[in-house]
Amino acid sequence: MSLERVCYDCGRRTDAPVARCDCGEPLWLATGDDSFDWDDVADGPGLGRYGALLPVDAEALDGLATAAGDTPLVRAPELDEFAGARVHVKAEGQQPTGSFKDRGSALGLAAVGEGAAGDVGAVGTVSHGNMAMSTAAFAAAAGVPCTVLVPADIPAERLGIIAQYDPTLLRVDGDYGRLYERSLDLGPDRGVAFLNSDAPLRVEGQKTTAVEVCEAFAPDVPDAAVVPVSSGGHASGAWKALRELRAAGAIDEVPPLYLVQAAACAPIAEAFADGRDEVTPVDGGDTVAYSIANADPPSGTRALRAARDTGGAVLAVDDDAIHDAQRALATAAGLSVESSSATALAAVRRLAEDGDLTASDDVVAVATGTGLKATAGSASVPTVGIDELDERLTDAGERTA
Ligand SMILES: [Zn+2]
Repeated sequence: MSLERVCYDCGRRTDAPVARCDCGEPLWLATGDDSFDWDDVADGPGLGRYGALLPVDAEALDGLATAAGDTPLVRAPELDEFAGARVHVKAEGQQPTGSFKDRGSALGLAAVGEGAAGDVGAVGTVSHGNMAMSTAAFAAAAGVPCTVLVPADIPAERLGIIAQYDPTLLRVDGDYGRLYERSLDLGPDRGVAFLNSDAPLRVEGQKTTAVEVCEAFAPDVPDAAVVPVSSGGHASGAWKALRELRAAGAIDEVPPLYLVQAAACAPIAEAFADGRDEVTPVDGGDTVAYSIANADPPSGTRALRAARDTGGAVLAVDDDAIHDAQRALATAAGLSVESSSATALAAVRRLAEDGDLTASDDVVAVATGTGLKATAGSASVPTVGIDELDERLTDAGERTA
């Protein structure tokens, strides 16, 4: 399949290994197969099942890539009352490194292994969390050198998780948004394929979240899908998947795509609310949803277009709503998700409160990453003597009775 790149906005095409169009917007790959049918989905694990829609051979998605994707879609009726709709949780925390990023990492490393990414001998990424861990893990499994550029102020515990895969790690002092663009400029010259969050190859891998959701509902589609948005890379992948499935006739209609940000740092939601066509940088504040706190999202305008084009919206939810949703997911459904992922359920609740969703609507909340990497705060736990156990267990039984 061609690795030709095309601009979603102005339609310009290029074979050059660049990430941005001359118009400034991010490029994506000219993929898709208008003859695709659900019968074309192959048996077997991982992303290779959707080989017909991907820019690499299914056989290249081997090894660790067979463990990426194919995550459970958990119907969670325990959350319906909280949310105000019929909730289905796409549990991306089940991936090898615990986040949806593994889809793009698997695809990207497979492309590099096939020589489909051009003349490169290494991969890299700019990230302060999930994407760094994911890229380093898949590079390790593929035996490909990996450079991870992280901000200088990255918390030590996150650095430790990345370091276990032994990439070349560099803390970089300076503007994080500029570092992102600088890496894309330098990468092709230095033989490094930077698999940043909205890199064309990563977007191709991240298409598969939406393909899996649509396959689960086929021949219907869910009434809505809600995805947390940061750089706009995952949202772009979801939109691209829906466009390709629609073009092939594999889905009759495109479900509304709702994107959600943390209110403290919500450039895309603000642009949507203002009716603007472009996303501009904001001065972002702190939020518990730090994984999606991106004040200058590189694919922000493309994500904005995705929400509008599908009849969805971009929402912002505050930290209290995020906490409530995260707690509901854990205590009612037994699902530990990171704060950023809980924004999706918080957004479902908001949409239902606003009348955009009803109690009978089937809504997919994409829980992008596990909560098991992060400490969930301190817990007050009593210590009891072993001789007191008899009495305490009786108390515990009454609590749940
Ligand atoms: Zn363009």
